[in-house]
Amino acid sequence: MINQPHTFNSPAELSSWTRAINIGKMANEVFDVAVIGGGITGAGVALDLASRGLHVALLEKDDFASGTSSRSSKLIHGGLRYLEQFEFRLVRESLNERAVLSQTAPHLCKPLEFLVPIYSLNEKSPLGSNRLKLAAGLWLYDLLAGRKNIGRHKWISRDEALKLAPRLSGEGLRGAFGYFDCLTDDARLVIEVIKTASAFGALVANYARVRGFHRSSDGLSALEIEDRIGGLSFELRASVVVNATGVWSDEVSGLSDGQIHRRIRPSKGIHIIVAAERLQNQTAVLIPSAGEDRFLFVIPWKGRTVIGTTDADYSESLDDPSAKAEEVNRIVQSAAVAFPDSKLTTADVIGTFAGLRPLISTGDKATKEISRKEEIFEEESGLITISGGKLTTWRRMAEQVSERVVRRLQNRNNNAKIRKSQTSHIALANGQPSREENDYGFDSDTVNHLKETYGGNYGVVLEVARESEMLKARLIDDLPHIGAEAVYAARYEMAMNVDDVLARRTRIALIDAGQGQSCAGVVEELMKKEMSSG
Ligand code: FAD
Repeated sequence: MINQPHTFNSPAELSSWTRAINIGKMANEVFDVAVIGGGITGAGVALDLASRGLHVALLEKDDFASGTSSRSSKLIHGGLRYLEQFEFRLVRESLNERAVLSQTAPHLCKPLEFLVPIYSLNEKSPLGSNRLKLAAGLWLYDLLAGRKNIGRHKWISRDEALKLAPRLSGEGLRGAFGYFDCLTDDARLVIEVIKTASAFGALVANYARVRGFHRSSDGLSALEIEDRIGGLSFELRASVVVNATGVWSDEVSGLSDGQIHRRIRPSKGIHIIVAAERLQNQTAVLIPSAGEDRFLFVIPWKGRTVIGTTDADYSESLDDPSAKAEEVNRIVQSAAVAFPDSKLTTADVIGTFAGLRPLISTGDKATKEISRKEEIFEEESGLITISGGKLTTWRRMAEQVSERVVRRLQNRNNNAKIRKSQTSHIALANGQPSREENDYGFDSDTVNHLKETYGGNYGVVLEVARESEMLKARLIDDLPHIGAEAVYAARYEMAMNVDDVLARRTRIALIDAGQGQSCAGVVEELMKKEMSSG
């Protein structure tokens, strides 16, 4: 495994100061590659290329992961559903990526058991009650995972299933299939990939919007960037430009050539979050979506339960989509039917989030039937655009785009030697927390939370906490998060404002019923102090 090119005890700072320095360099240096988009796709491309030794700039118009990449179902999975569409290659690649991420960032790819309850009545079983067909699908899923499988599927008796999910409807329940996939924290995965890219020398900036391009006979010669923090605009020069802007990619392609592009068909998916006590499932459970021929995941996540998702064409503003009341009602109803003893109502919903899938338009297929495979377009303007794909396949997608970038650079530079992709061996977040770490008397909830959230950088957060009593204190009484995390986010993760910390670095805005408003003042104070101390 390749560690980041700095030592464990002194991770590179990635602060508002670093950002200002990066912006200065972006305006003055010439880059091999400019990557537009700080979601998982752009983050992966920046890491792949920087770790091959290329000079890379990454630009994100809002905060890193503020687009689709913080709004997914948080699964690193093969996608059992894609087997029905005969997407065997996509499933096999995804399962392989699941195995790679389990090695490079174990705390961001944690095995989780999924129950598929089987009822005598077809409409109560999420994937139909055909036990044979399902068993064959799960057998194939295990087969495609190969020797690196994280656990084989099995049949679970009715009693055992009701132990794992006590509030699941027992009426007509025959038992359940159990299979394994992995759970992540999507926004933190993006942040860790970006931090690692930065450690390999990529210059990264959030709140830096690409507004336009300059063209030369050779293609695109420069990008026009608006620094949304500093309030100035500047030009960034790069040999190759990658457009990794997800649902915005048509818009960015249009900036490069003045044409209207219609490659992307955004599809909205929402999730709801409820307290874990409501449904009490210890494993993830698949349930039917009320009145639809599809299923929902009920996923235990950070001490809460996340339920979703939907899949519907979307034509409103791409910025900050939200869940509508009828979408929330449908999910609540579906969960209330599947878990009747929970008596779940909309009053139980702690929070919701909505994301837009950057699906590639393929005529009139229903959105759920459109392939989740990515596509790469080498545009006439010179832009290399990557769209579609999944969170799970970020590393392999990045490798494929990077190969095209490398080929282009080599064509221009007499086949200059450029390293092959290293990313399957690069540890994210410094790997696992070290065993000997002193826990400084924190309670076990906080210790577990910090280890699961920060992986090998757990000790760095503890070091920050030692700086003052305020940093050791919990931010909200019933959550394990501590003040040090706000400072850590500002010092090492380029969090620029309170929302960056609450929504994407700590996820408090998702799992707290008050969306973290009760601690927003403290977070702001800690960040101000940190940002002014330089
Ligand atoms: P984004 O994350 O949207 O990133 C694009 C970025 O580009 C944005 O941050 C945006 O601000 C920036 N940008 C746009 N325009 C500009 C500009 N002009 N200048 C600078 N920056 C710009 N996949 C899985 O593997 N597992 C799952 O469980 C899963 N669940 C999902 C559930 C839902 C509801 C949805 C919607 C998707 C899910 N996916 C899942 C798919 C996965 O989340 C996406 O494929 C992935 O996050 C897309 O990442 P991206 O980087 O391409 O796009």
